[in-house]
Amino acid sequence: MQGCNDIAMALLCGLLEQPQRTLHADGLRLSEYADAYRHLLDIGALVSGNELESSVLCPSCSEHSLTPVADSAGGYRAYCFDCGWIPLVPRDVKPLSVVPGQIARWLTAALGLAGRFRCEPVIDGVLWRLGELEHRRKRRTVFFGSRLIEQAAAVKTHVDRLAAPGAEVILTTADPTAMADGPLGDFLLIPLRAVVHLRKAGFVLENLDAYLDRTLRPGGGNETSLRLLSRRIALIEGESHPLSPQVCQFLSLLDKAGGEPLHKRAIADALEMNVDAFKAATMFKRHKPVYDVFVAGDHNGRY
Ligand SMILES: [Zn+2]
Repeated sequence: MQGCNDIAMALLCGLLEQPQRTLHADGLRLSEYADAYRHLLDIGALVSGNELESSVLCPSCSEHSLTPVADSAGGYRAYCFDCGWIPLVPRDVKPLSVVPGQIARWLTAALGLAGRFRCEPVIDGVLWRLGELEHRRKRRTVFFGSRLIEQAAAVKTHVDRLAAPGAEVILTTADPTAMADGPLGDFLLIPLRAVVHLRKAGFVLENLDAYLDRTLRPGGGNETSLRLLSRRIALIEGESHPLSPQVCQFLSLLDKAGGEPLHKRAIADALEMNVDAFKAATMFKRHKPVYDVFVAGDHNGRY
């Protein structure tokens, strides 16, 4: 069942990213992944629509397109030129859709937030606020997002409004690497499939802590930069190093100076420290790798 669950989760995320978020009735029957689709239907991740498909492929000969009609007994049937009248079940004639609000609610439950937070839609069909998590004594605001790219600017505005800087966590059905260069590139975007698995009873979380610790970075890469200073993170060969507020401020000053040496007096003033007490090596005691990569000092108190 593990394999089927993995395939089903991939299909679910794929459908959530589609404009209509529906699957034609023929899609279920003819797909090589029909078992996985049926599994999604059984657990309620997919629901049957109310409308009838305007045409379905004949289930008997798979040659002709048929127009389904309701019959007097409350079922459905369709006439095929070769096969005659064919009885049909609802699954044969109604499109299946995925309801993203339902997925958001399941996520809220899997995260253990359901009792304390109400899963709230922020942008209809695109962004939900699931609640707040405490991770290593830091409060994180967790969102679920689907089809984020099209509304990236609006999503950014709302996330900035609802979460403290650097405290947002966005679980998304899209590929985070596709959003890296856009307005959402600085957010912690976690691919849903990397941390959520389908089980009989619903969603189960795995690996989320590793993403929150930022030891796993979506998309990998080996970037070394101070690009994420606004989130108090230094990147060294793709690995994120969380920074203390003071160290972050120090690095921001160096970053702004753009390579020009700064005297420690100027730095101490900016950090509101006594210049005599100022010693970069002490300040970076718990951030040694960051110091080694980004800071160079001379013997005249300049950095
Ligand atoms: Zn036929």
